[in-house]
Amino acid sequence: MFIAHFGFAMAARRVAPQPAFGTLLLAAMLVDGIWPVFVLLEWERVEIVPGITAVTPLLFASYPYTHSLLFGALWAALLGGGYYTLRRDRGGALWLAALVLSHWVLDFAAHRPDMPLWPGGPKVGLGLWYSLPGTLVVEFAIFDPEEIALARVNVYRVLLDRGSVAERMAAIASRVEAPPSRDWLIGQMLTLLLVGLLRAQRGELMSARAMLGKAVQRFAALQETSDNLDPLRRFEQLHPELAAKIEAAMRLDAVQTARALLEIFAPFAPERAIEAIRK
Ligand SMILES: [Zn+2]
Repeated sequence: MFIAHFGFAMAARRVAPQPAFGTLLLAAMLVDGIWPVFVLLEWERVEIVPGITAVTPLLFASYPYTHSLLFGALWAALLGGGYYTLRRDRGGALWLAALVLSHWVLDFAAHRPDMPLWPGGPKVGLGLWYSLPGTLVVEFAIFDPEEIALARVNVYRVLLDRGSVAERMAAIASRVEAPPSRDWLIGQMLTLLLVGLLRAQRGELMSARAMLGKAVQRFAALQETSDNLDPLRRFEQLHPELAAKIEAAMRLDAVQTARALLEIFAPFAPERAIEAIRK
């Protein structure tokens, strides 16, 4: 649970006039900021167990002083109280305290039942981290209304709209460009391949690899795709044979990769162009 904490701070910025955004962020992330220090001091313990949840390999063996509900409340009181002492702003202090506590609530949703109610007390947690889709929904569904304009979207549905979400989404969807023509894609694919080959021959291997990777993207866009924003997504499932060939080609040294890709691309491009590159 990382991004969702930011989301709560962003939401608070909308409604809380006073504390600066940085302070709100600090509040939402406070106990995660303290946690590594406590781990280094050996007051709290973490172990690394690959596969323990779908999302993170961290086993939080013991973290009563940063991640128990009781200490969450104490940190909340401390930060809220400190802010009030400095600024004499009760509303702001309460928002900060609420954000500190919101961290525990979000972590409670994400973590395995390893979050103590108080040091030594019963441990709770809903374990969203066991489910990658569940985590992604919570982690990546959070946008600031202005920020959402930066997103790209192909398929969407608005289920609940308490602002102008539907309007904004429609604007974004209409802005996502129409797919490029096949001729353009073939031209791009061959040009990138040729440039990649020449750079590989000159020993510019990193640049060559980058070019060849882009050529493969154009090639993928020429095939049937499951995601028109990123034609490489799930390519293996739709075109297992092509995917296996490309994967094998990518493992060769850069010059050989370019030559192997040329043969894979050949059936999809004009013969004369392929012949010209072969030479
Ligand atoms: Zn945390």
